[in-house]
Amino acid sequence: MVQVRRSGRTRALVGSAACWLACSRPEAPAQPVVAEVAEEDVPEVMVEKTWLKGQLHLHTSNSGDSETPAAAALRWYETHGFDFAVVTDHNFVTAPERAGRMLVAPGIELTQNVEQCEPPPEPGLSCLLHVNALFVAESRAGRFSFPPASSPRRDELFARALRASEELEGVAMLNHPNFHYAADAGLLTTLSASGLRLFELANEAIDSNNAGDAKHPSTEALWDAALTNGARLFAVATDDAHHYDDAPAVTARGETAYTGDRGFVVVHATRDVPAIRAALLAGEFYASTGLLLNSVSREDGALTVEAAQAGVTIEFVGAGGEVLRTAPGPRATMTLAETPGPYLRARVRGADGRKAWTQPIWRE
Ligand SMILES: [Zn+2]
Ligand SMILES: [Zn+2]
Repeated sequence: MVQVRRSGRTRALVGSAACWLACSRPEAPAQPVVAEVAEEDVPEVMVEKTWLKGQLHLHTSNSGDSETPAAAALRWYETHGFDFAVVTDHNFVTAPERAGRMLVAPGIELTQNVEQCEPPPEPGLSCLLHVNALFVAESRAGRFSFPPASSPRRDELFARALRASEELEGVAMLNHPNFHYAADAGLLTTLSASGLRLFELANEAIDSNNAGDAKHPSTEALWDAALTNGARLFAVATDDAHHYDDAPAVTARGETAYTGDRGFVVVHATRDVPAIRAALLAGEFYASTGLLLNSVSREDGALTVEAAQAGVTIEFVGAGGEVLRTAPGPRATMTLAETPGPYLRARVRGADGRKAWTQPIWRE
């Protein structure tokens, strides 16, 4: 192990980061060393991974339905303890200035509110097909327009959004599948085969119908159905916030405020945007509606979860959404060898109803 001291603090380097330093120098001493290194001289690869709280879905005044400028919205998130945030305005790439310690990245909500889609929406509902493109190229800042659609089919329209995300150099995330029932499990499975890796399990906006109803499965049931069908999808939780310091005024005039810090991800990565992006694509994160975990390990066919608080219940979930084991917290482990199914994931429930979801591990 090598230690690097920076900014008056000593950081311990382990694993590949330690190897990066020690193994690249044949004369590296066997004993631990402590090096004084100026902050700007330390490559990011040498900084250890931590758990970083992030927001992947938020709107600013570059969306027609929010009045808060990006700088103020991001200040709100920084004040609420977030480590990073991606701005996702409707068909507009907002590339915010970094302010303070919080990392920020450009994004966009690729918003297809179309007249017609196939299969058609249920009576009274609309074709509202939304995909976030996260970490898009800063050079694409500004208004985005879709090319003409070749088909009204839902899978084709979503595929058009995935292509747009790729063209913007972003990471695609299918938003609120139960909002006007935009996407079902079959569609999630199809899109996963086309490269989709992220979807919103818990969009904490008021009208996203995460729980489903008598006729519609919950978003979590959609996930299990897609995973059982072979999809390789990771689940995120988001705010989809539109109101910040103006929320009390919105509520006071009798309207619904879409506020923040209710759904988020916690990513295991070094504190830089490329590492966070890579960790999301690798499933090195958990989704949360407020419940915090100390750690998640998804290695060697075993899933180990440790909650940050006692009094939680840890449920291990497998094929078809079956709960395979329920354990009292704060810590529990289960292995793939203990289940015949193709995948294993965990859900942690707090007594107050808040939850956290790990990403699955798969039998290769
Ligand atoms: Zn949306
Ligand atoms: Zn949105």
